[in-house]
Amino acid sequence: MAVNFTELAVEGVRLLRPYQPGKPIDELAREFGLNEADIVKLASNENPMGPGPKALAAIQSELADLTRYPDGAGFALKSELCKQLNLRPEQITLGNGSSDILDFIVRSFVNDGDDVIVSQHAFAIYGLVAKMVGANCIAVPAKNYGHDLVAMAAAITDKTRIVFVTNPNNPTGTWNTSDELVTFLNAVPKNVLVLLDEAYFEYVHEADYPNGIELLDEYSNLVVTRTFSKAYGLAALRVGYGVSSPELADIMNRVRPPFNVDSFALAAATATLQDHEYVKESIAINDAGMAYFIEQFQQLGLSYVPSVGNFICFEVPTGVNSMDVYQGLLQRGVIIRPVANYEMPNHLRVSIGTSKENQVFIAALTEILSGVASSEDSVQAGKA
Ligand SMILES: *Cc1c(COP(=O)(O)O)cnc(C)c1O
Repeated sequence: MAVNFTELAVEGVRLLRPYQPGKPIDELAREFGLNEADIVKLASNENPMGPGPKALAAIQSELADLTRYPDGAGFALKSELCKQLNLRPEQITLGNGSSDILDFIVRSFVNDGDDVIVSQHAFAIYGLVAKMVGANCIAVPAKNYGHDLVAMAAAITDKTRIVFVTNPNNPTGTWNTSDELVTFLNAVPKNVLVLLDEAYFEYVHEADYPNGIELLDEYSNLVVTRTFSKAYGLAALRVGYGVSSPELADIMNRVRPPFNVDSFALAAATATLQDHEYVKESIAINDAGMAYFIEQFQQLGLSYVPSVGNFICFEVPTGVNSMDVYQGLLQRGVIIRPVANYEMPNHLRVSIGTSKENQVFIAALTEILSGVASSEDSVQAGKA
């Protein structure tokens, strides 16, 4: 008799629905018979500059050691992080992407039947890693699309193990001030962990935007995560890190597979940390692109959620289906991201690209929206 392995899978896994990534370029090329080179992908908040020259050189020089295991302790990368962030190596946990850290902290501290707390519209990975271990993911209603930290603190119960805070949040681009974050941290019981995800830290210019790492001395229940996938332009290599007290890092490092970050990722991340020009230019391109999108959205009469990240959510006009706009963009070779699964069915998220990519997107969007408007006009005219 055939075995039903789905029934044998642990409950948390059986009930999981996989993360939906942005559509890959080659997939769209196959579907629509498009040229890969003509496709503009603004769907996964990647750095549109491509990798930095120092990262590429570092990868090249690692090729000779391809047969060796990577440095499981990540000595060189941790040293550079310590130098730049004023940390001790014992505070750092390296991840195969910062998503790895989310998994380590959940598997270290959350039992079947426990709760974790997230905000409505929060990054989907938190819920996934929590459900995997059989935990309940409690979503606290957002305020103007952003985290309501007062309500999130109030939602903590005896069952709560971790509260996830994303600053700024993806997909909304909303952020919390230093005051809001500190008030929240003061309200969280000391035995409840706070995972502060700062994946977009480098892009934020606001004066009262908090630096989570500076709060670690004060709050021993805090874990801050950052990544090389965004401003550092290394998403394909999968490398990120958590910073915490040495005690929490020791626990997470027990869960961490010994060689979870490969040699190329370690070398490229270390090199890019030192490539200040590249990071500076990446941020400048983002600032210019964000200003352009906001100006264009205003001209098109589209409302949007103000964002401090490298992406922005805009709302499609009333009566227009966001999936039609998404599909229309795909047909024109532009990939962006639907956010209906983030409880934002009328919004679409677009990542900031190069100025050329941004223009291609806006031109396609303008064409689609004018088509929608004129077909509505003709329906009106037909009725009249
Ligand atoms: C992109 C992103 C990350 C980064 O994930 P990696 O695993 O480091 O690539 C983490 N958190 C949020 C909120 C993100 O949007």
